[in-house]
Amino acid sequence: MADKIDPVRRSANMRAIRSQHMKPEMMVRQLIHGMGYRYRLHRQNLLGKPDIVFLSRKKIIFVHGCFWHSHECGMAHKPKSNLDYWIPKLGRNKERDAENVAELEKQGWGVLIVWECETKYHEILKQKLLWGSKPKPAKSLTVCNNSIITSRQPI
Ligand SMILES: [Zn+2]
Repeated sequence: MADKIDPVRRSANMRAIRSQHMKPEMMVRQLIHGMGYRYRLHRQNLLGKPDIVFLSRKKIIFVHGCFWHSHECGMAHKPKSNLDYWIPKLGRNKERDAENVAELEKQGWGVLIVWECETKYHEILKQKLLWGSKPKPAKSLTVCNNSIITSRQPI
């Protein structure tokens, strides 16, 4: 088939795409670090080699590139050539992602997927990264409740 890229060229292209996708992961790491959390990187012994692991909290974050993991966000360009190569490959990635998450959750891990397209919006992403954390007790709310109770007391 004439339109197929030779293997050497293809792996060069894949490396180029992959290195672009390093950036979102760095962004997430920086945000988490800035939020005061400490974590480990790429635990090789865990399924799917998660990008960020909180051992004591038993939580895992995967930072997924929208293209490689077929995010339906419109940011991931759909391959237009070599479809017989890309469609099955990306399909397998997606299946493997789902299997990994299911298995990790079965093992008791909390799993969060952060998409590349979400890393543009830091404030929204920060909220997402707080997942599972207990909200701080709102002192003003307590005061407010007290005053409601006081006003309801019979005179
Ligand atoms: Zn996306």
